[in-house]
Amino acid sequence: MIADRIKQVKENVRAACREAGRDEKEVTLIAVSKTKPVSLLREAYEAGIRDFGENKVQELVDKMEQLPGDIRWHMIGHLQRNKVKYIVGKVWLIHSVDSYRLAEEINREAQKKHTEANILIEVNMAQEESKFGVSPKDAPALVEEISKLPAVHIKGLMTVAPFVENAEENRCFFRKLKQLSVDIAEKNIDNVSMNILSMGMTGDYQIAAQEGAVYIRVGTGIFGERDYSV
Ligand SMILES: *Cc1c(COP(=O)(O)O)cnc(C)c1O
Repeated sequence: MIADRIKQVKENVRAACREAGRDEKEVTLIAVSKTKPVSLLREAYEAGIRDFGENKVQELVDKMEQLPGDIRWHMIGHLQRNKVKYIVGKVWLIHSVDSYRLAEEINREAQKKHTEANILIEVNMAQEESKFGVSPKDAPALVEEISKLPAVHIKGLMTVAPFVENAEENRCFFRKLKQLSVDIAEKNIDNVSMNILSMGMTGDYQIAAQEGAVYIRVGTGIFGERDYSV
């Protein structure tokens, strides 16, 4: 069941890439497994998934301890500074950095552990009140500021697009995130690369793939609806 859904998502990505003239290998599927039991993650792992996304620190660490060591864990949810210590040195990529203070804490913890941390800057492209992320206007300055932290490496940008009925409505936000990354890359800031764009969820990942996503984050489309009542 999960294997079938994964296959379907990959086929959709392939079709989207073909349409956009992109190589499908440029797009990596992150299985967003928040709220789902380890047994289902194992099923996805057996179907070939090696990238998992979680949005809560405790849940991520618990699952990590129970699953194979070759999984790349992605922290995609809002991160509190007092939780940074639990994931630095363990996760592959933190997608959700939107303030200097948070980056500073990540840097401090990485230095303490004699390691380094790869991050993305989360941008609130639609400027929704309810969402985390730096505004597109403030993103370049934040990148410059964070670039000076030696144990933190900015690898690109991430966005959570609005919830819409018609995914086409989000195309403009994906396109603008791509353009923002190009604009920032042109500044050639030391210790900054803009190779990664993390964008697209179950409702709109095909559009995101067409517009240049490197990571798409798909939860419902792989694991089914989430039940928050339990
Ligand atoms: C939950 C979540 C997703 C996956 O959402 P689906 O619509 O279930 O695919 C992607 N990105 C972030 C940041 C999330 O919190």
